[in-house]
Amino acid sequence: MNCPNCGQKTVSFREWSKALNAFNWCCRACRCNLEANWLVKWTAWTALIVGLILGLRPLFKGIAEDRKVEALEMATGIAQGLAAVVVLGCIAWFFGGYKVILSDEHELEEKQDR
Ligand SMILES: [Zn+2]
Repeated sequence: MNCPNCGQKTVSFREWSKALNAFNWCCRACRCNLEANWLVKWTAWTALIVGLILGLRPLFKGIAEDRKVEALEMATGIAQGLAAVVVLGCIAWFFGGYKVILSDEHELEEKQDR
């Protein structure tokens, strides 16, 4: 993923996939503070919601039908939830990006220049 400020590759997939780095990152090349763009944020929320729904669906279904949930059924639901999170994570990596966070100091300098 490239830095929107200097245009250089700023983060590897391995570093990015550690969840918090996807949302806030400091570019090594230009020391610019970056935050996830709207696509990464919306994909993360969607992954969280879809992952929880798919992962917990067998549990809620078992409670609604007043029966014991089989371990295989629960494992299948969790696997489906994780698969959805991985697919949405890949979409965020390939189509998402960062945007520059302007510090207060930088914004003040810009206002003084006007
Ligand atoms: Zn940069």
